[in-house]
Amino acid sequence: MFANPSYDVLIVGGSHAGLSAALVLGRSLRRVLVLDAGQPCNRQTPHSHGFLTRDGVPPAELAAIARAQLAHYPTVELRAATVVGAAADAAGFRVETADGATHAGRKLLLATGLHDELPPIPGLAACWGISVLHCPYCHGYEVHHQPLAVLSGRDSGFEFARLIHHWSPDLRLLTNGPSQLSGDEAAHLAARGVTVIETPLQAVEHEAGRLRALRLADGTRLPLTALFARVPFRQASDLGTQLGLSLTDAGLVAADEFGRTAVPGLYVAGDNSTLMRQVAAAVANGSKAAAFINHELIAEDF
Ligand SMILES: Cc1cc2nc3c(=O)[nH]c(=O)nc-3n(C[C@H](O)[C@H](O)[C@H](O)COP(=O)(O)OP(=O)(O)OC[C@H]3O[C@@H](n4cnc5c(N)ncnc54)[C@H](O)[C@@H]3O)c2cc1C
Repeated sequence: MFANPSYDVLIVGGSHAGLSAALVLGRSLRRVLVLDAGQPCNRQTPHSHGFLTRDGVPPAELAAIARAQLAHYPTVELRAATVVGAAADAAGFRVETADGATHAGRKLLLATGLHDELPPIPGLAACWGISVLHCPYCHGYEVHHQPLAVLSGRDSGFEFARLIHHWSPDLRLLTNGPSQLSGDEAAHLAARGVTVIETPLQAVEHEAGRLRALRLADGTRLPLTALFARVPFRQASDLGTQLGLSLTDAGLVAADEFGRTAVPGLYVAGDNSTLMRQVAAAVANGSKAAAFINHELIAEDF
């Protein structure tokens, strides 16, 4: 039981969303502890694009700038740690780290991100974030008008192919087995010159993560610059479910636009609760959740 928690806010996850929240809360004179396992989902990508003033900066550099700026705030403490357990009590929340330490805070923000489950296709993981890409807004510009492919996921792949076609009409859709395209979708793709390939993808040929060609099960070799793939994901942490939160059909933590969850005092921010997976969105979510948490603390104390 923690009658007087040492922190106002515990933040689990110290990447874009978590550090953004820490900045706003630290500047709001809140005692903040950020616990981070250091495994952001974009860690393999050489350049992070689309975040105003920091376009093309390596993700690790973005995080280093954020941590250096946070170091000026005595209100914010950053620790490298994996949180393995979380519980709510009358005074707030208590978390336990893998090394056995426990910390208590009045509010808890989970900024724990998602874990991408890459299909076990040889070469694909090595290219993830480099030339096997999840998002055209992040990496489309760099490969525009180059030979590209889309790998369909759970759905037919039509929507994703239509999106990527905007960046390059030199496009093929790999359905990795029998196509689920409707007749209408297939006709639309054909009219735009998008080839549909049903032969399963066997391997991704690359040099240091730079795609050279896709190898298909029938031996065909497709020289390409990049492959866009929407891969399945899961929550990177089960702390939310430990605390009684349920997930949406899409696998995200359900929360309102300020990151408030169904559990009082428990907030989420960043990829774990939005399909808009972008640094700018994660930073914005962290900032919004932080302001709301501060409001809630003021309302409780004033
Ligand atoms: C390959 C790839 C490339 C991308 N490129 C771009 C790009 O160019 N531009 C762009 O805008 N967006 C890009 N994105 C999206 C962007 O990276 C994410 O939207 C952003 O990282 C989300 O931030 P986040 O803080 O929510 O989660 P993350 O950055 O994933 O960070 C979550 C953090 O929480 C920590 N954590 C999780 N569980 C625990 C726990 N139990 N205890 C302690 N710590 C924990 C993790 O270790 C990690 O450090 C890319 C994504 C991917 C996958």
